[in-house]
Amino acid sequence: MSDPAARKPRRWPLSLDRIGLPASAPGERTMTTADAQTLRPQRPLSDALREANRQRAAPVPQSDLQAFRQNMVLRLRQAGCQDERVLAAMNVVPRHLFVDSALVAQAYEDTSLPIGLGQTISKPSVVARMIELLRHRPGGADLARVLEIGTGCGYQAAVLAHVAGRVVTIERLRGLHDRALRQLAPLQLPGIELVYGDGRLGHGPAAPYDGIIAAAGGHDLPAAWLDQLARGGRLVAPVHDPALRSQVLMVVDKLGDGSIVQRIHEAVRFVPLESGTSDFGHS
Ligand code: SAH
Repeated sequence: MSDPAARKPRRWPLSLDRIGLPASAPGERTMTTADAQTLRPQRPLSDALREANRQRAAPVPQSDLQAFRQNMVLRLRQAGCQDERVLAAMNVVPRHLFVDSALVAQAYEDTSLPIGLGQTISKPSVVARMIELLRHRPGGADLARVLEIGTGCGYQAAVLAHVAGRVVTIERLRGLHDRALRQLAPLQLPGIELVYGDGRLGHGPAAPYDGIIAAAGGHDLPAAWLDQLARGGRLVAPVHDPALRSQVLMVVDKLGDGSIVQRIHEAVRFVPLESGTSDFGHS
């Protein structure tokens, strides 16, 4: 039997020639081409619900869920993820516990799913890609302290908790913050702090952070994030690129001397980074 990995074209991480990035010197700002493959953490709610209705009749046995999760990790590996810590984390975090019970059968597909209040849980490949980028900062030391903007259902925070010493995660929608608290509690992960607030302001009390990761994209990178990034730290965030008229994944390093180096990676499509907080959905 031939090796499926050998048959499949390498999709991820995208090679520089596929995303139109010249290998640039540190500090140079590089652009993606308009035809760059777009990582879409979301997909239309209607798709997910149509699929859910198709599957609703059959509850999924635990053993199947574990096998689905292992398959998800295998696919991430075949697609090019080489970070064993990220793969190990994704192999243990039960993504199906973070989605609506009607969507459990789809929890390990490489797809985003609705989590309520118009928001979505990011695709597994996007979560893996962003955390791998976050970990591979210059100097390469383990992440002691990470700030996540956009807790959503809490899945990515749970994965982060397996690769970082302490995770502070902020959500601006009270309903989702409450839900993430409930969903994370049974996992008993040490070192996660959930904050209800406007992530554009970061979270001063636990700063500085070795890593900052955003699950929502704005037109700029808030100044607070750069202020709260430690020297030697890395920020990974979607941000709108006016030249491309789309969101791109931005990686920003704060070097030991405090200078900033930023690089643009592939095109992405995340939910918008909003300002302020909302009590909507508070239970
Ligand atoms: N990491 C999440 C993805 C959630 S989607 C997961 O694993 O499920 C992005 C989230 O960012 C949404 O819940 C949205 O409400 C939140 N968000 C948008 N703007 C924000 C802001 N300014 N501060 C905090 N959260 C924000």
